Amino acid sequence: MKLPQKLLDMQPYDPTENLYPVKLDANESPFPTPSWLREKIAAAAAQVDLNCYPDPSYRPVLELAAALYGVEPENVAAGNGSDELISILTAAFCQRGDKILTLEPDFSMYGFYAGIGELAHVTVQKGPELAVTADEILAACRRERPAMLIFSNPCNPTGQGLARDQVCRVMAGADCLVVVDEAYMDFWDQTVIPDAVASDNTVVLRTCSKALGFAAARLGFAVASPLLISQLQKVRSPFNLNGFTQVAAQVVLGERDYLQAHTAAICRSVRELSTGLEELARKYRGKLAPLPTVTNFICLRCWDPAAVYGKLLEKGICVRRFPAFLRVSAGTPEENSALLRALEELCSQE
Ligand SMILES: *Cc1c(COP(=O)(O)O)cnc(C)c1O
Repeated sequence: MKLPQKLLDMQPYDPTENLYPVKLDANESPFPTPSWLREKIAAAAAQVDLNCYPDPSYRPVLELAAALYGVEPENVAAGNGSDELISILTAAFCQRGDKILTLEPDFSMYGFYAGIGELAHVTVQKGPELAVTADEILAACRRERPAMLIFSNPCNPTGQGLARDQVCRVMAGADCLVVVDEAYMDFWDQTVIPDAVASDNTVVLRTCSKALGFAAARLGFAVASPLLISQLQKVRSPFNLNGFTQVAAQVVLGERDYLQAHTAAICRSVRELSTGLEELARKYRGKLAPLPTVTNFICLRCWDPAAVYGKLLEKGICVRRFPAFLRVSAGTPEENSALLRALEELCSQE
């Protein structure tokens, strides 16, 4: 038997295991689920009929998500993480020979699913400041004629955001499916959900994995017009939300005050970390340069990202490494201090 070349060519996505005491590499929430909420979830989980398939329509989950995002349930589809929704959109909304347009740098999974789908993958390279404009994206759309444009806003890994009016210009000017991955929009206020549900070409992706502190459940949402959502519902697998995730989501998504407080705590953490990094950058001029952020992580340029990454690992601190910078997630106050202390030590030794 001969394995397909596209399969042999793929690089596995390689999330780090939990080997390090300070884990600031995955943009998760650093705050554990409180025990009163765990108990509610456990009680709901105990009621799941394990011998039966779960509810294939999971209407209660969609209703709660719709309330959270200020839309109707007909505007929402759910996935086993927004990752599954990226996979479905790439596989089902593009055809053989089509092109997918992404920005660079951006979330690596877009190219990953394009590769599995055997789609041509073209990119818009961001400038040295890691910013991009609506005009640059639209020029690439006219040049490349993609079937699908997908980008994260705010962007992972840069932490930069494109303002709502700019994204709306892209949606209006692009003659293709536009997927705006708002995995981090709970930390910013420029969502295009109201514009997407009124458009005929835009899907917004949201996730419970970051600001809502619910990554283990694997739950993400697509928000779009009823027409696009009905097409998406046709092609997802019938039981893509397992029974435990469904009941846990019904508990957690109903706790709006808790979710707001949880997100606010992460916002405080990222402000503290930013302030600390900016102080270090002033003290050790030319060695560190954190970019401003509208997310729960910081893109940190430094003298030698690969070397700094390795030295942080030696100190038990795991961040995410990119060729030109590091990406550090906001942690607990203790984790932030540990990172700042370690960086200060490295800067002073350089
Ligand atoms: C984390 C992340 C996701 C994945 O979210 P899941 O819902 O956990 O699959 C999607 N897009 C971006 C940009 C992310 O950073």
